[in-house]
Amino acid sequence: MTIAVYPGTFDPITSGHADIIKRASTIFEKLIIGVYDKPDKQLLFSITERVDMVKKTVADLPDIRVTAYTGLTADFIHKVKGRVMIRGLRASSDFEREFEIALMNKKLAPDIELVCLMTSSEYQFLSSSLIKEVARLRGCLKDMIPDHVAIALKEKFSAKAPQVSKNETRC
Ligand code: ADP
Repeated sequence: MTIAVYPGTFDPITSGHADIIKRASTIFEKLIIGVYDKPDKQLLFSITERVDMVKKTVADLPDIRVTAYTGLTADFIHKVKGRVMIRGLRASSDFEREFEIALMNKKLAPDIELVCLMTSSEYQFLSSSLIKEVARLRGCLKDMIPDHVAIALKEKFSAKAPQVSKNETRC
C-alpha cells in the first residue's frame, strides 16, 4: 500500500486544496494530510482550528487521516511511513518554489517521491492569503472555500475588527 502525504499550512483550507485532496485520494490507497504547526509566517488560525477545518472538509472522503506536525516535513513523512509527498501547482511561481523544496527533500530523504498535481483551472487564482484578504473586506467567497471555513473566517474577523462586521458579506 502506498501512503501519500499532503503537507501544508492550510490557513485556511480552500476549495483548491480540497480539489487536490479529492484527486490525490483517488490515486493513493491512503492519504495523510499533514498540517504544519509552526511555519515561518504569520497565521490567522491556530493549529487546532486548522486541523479541525481540514477534518470537516474531508469528513466524507474515505481513507484520509488529518494530523498536525512540527519539524521537518521529510521526518513527518517517514514517521507516518509515507512514500510520496503531494503538492499542488498553480502557476510558474509555485513551480519554482516546489522545485527548490523537492530538491532539498531529495537530499534529506531520497526515498520520498514528490507528486505534483496541477490545479483545476477554476482554482488557479485561489490562495489562502487572498481568501483571508477578501474575507477581511467582506467579499463574497462562494465556491472558493467550504461553508464552515466561511463561517470561521467571519467569526475571526468579527472578533478582530468588530467595526467591520457591521458590513454583511456581499454574496
Ligand atoms: P504551504 O505553506 O506549505 O505552501 P499551503 O497551505 O499554502 O501550504 O499550500 C499547500 C499546498 O497546496 C502547496 O503545494 C500549494 O501550492 C497547494 N495549493 C494551494 N492553493 C492551491 C490551489 N488553489 N490549487 C492547487 N494547489 C494549491
